[in-house]
Amino acid sequence: MKKLIIILLTLSIIGCKKQEKIKTIIKETDNYVISINYPITNNNKLNKQIKKYVNNEYKKFIKEKHEEKVELNIDFKINENEIIIYSNNNSKTFKYKTEKTKSITTYKYINKIKELDITKKSIALTFDDGPSTYTKEIIDLLNQYDANATFFILGNKVEIYKDTLKYMLESGNEIGNHSYNHKWLTHINEEEIKNQINKTQEIIKTNLDYEPKIFRPTYGAINKKMRETINLDIILWNIDTMDWKYKSKKKIINNIIPQIEDEKIILMHDTKKITYETLKQLLPKLKEQGYQFVTISELKEIKTIREKT
Ligand code: ZN
Repeated sequence: MKKLIIILLTLSIIGCKKQEKIKTIIKETDNYVISINYPITNNNKLNKQIKKYVNNEYKKFIKEKHEEKVELNIDFKINENEIIIYSNNNSKTFKYKTEKTKSITTYKYINKIKELDITKKSIALTFDDGPSTYTKEIIDLLNQYDANATFFILGNKVEIYKDTLKYMLESGNEIGNHSYNHKWLTHINEEEIKNQINKTQEIIKTNLDYEPKIFRPTYGAINKKMRETINLDIILWNIDTMDWKYKSKKKIINNIIPQIEDEKIILMHDTKKITYETLKQLLPKLKEQGYQFVTISELKEIKTIREKT
């Protein structure tokens, strides 16, 4: 069977500053350096063409055996009716109609390329209620195991932990909205719900140039009013680690292990020391069993591709 490898591009959103050049070296080995920037517009067709081109250039580059240090540079320039993508000695122009893309307000830039094997068992670790003083250590630990996770954060903590959150994104993790100050959203009215969500979106956007696309309800409580009011994808979980309740990591691990399966979403809290301690044992254990650790959006993408093939 043909092994299917997908290249998932981790995107971070940066405000619309056409003139600003953002160069991120995303991969460096003894033999090569890769630096990729490309625009994502709100025109799906155009996005597909651009992505295809960038992916092809990337694959071509990786395929070649490089004896000496070489660089792949992909960058772009946006003119009025066209986007030009530069890739080392090549360049390709994508024409589009201005009126169709007039509403572009943000561009997303790749800051990391991950190669995820869709044939591999995948787990989405998620952390609620942070960030906290433990979050940075948790990110370090994830990095150590080549793992990424999703953090559903509280709006009122964004300014205090701005640096941690930047590090979180740079490491390839995803951020989700978990309300402003952990109110029971099923107990408040529509306007207050909107306020809890929007205030959090805004403070994240202002501080991190990033816009969450997913939301996790506090206490996992959800009703019709919330579904109608909240404009983000609502994400629950399959496995509750009970790290908020159990005091022993052995107990937490024994609770998780029998429930682990491909495509499961795991609930944890990055506000607890015990969670960090548990992860230290859990990550190598699951990695040994052949799991890869992906974000919620990546899991979604993997599931979509699996359904199609
Ligand atoms: Zn919570």
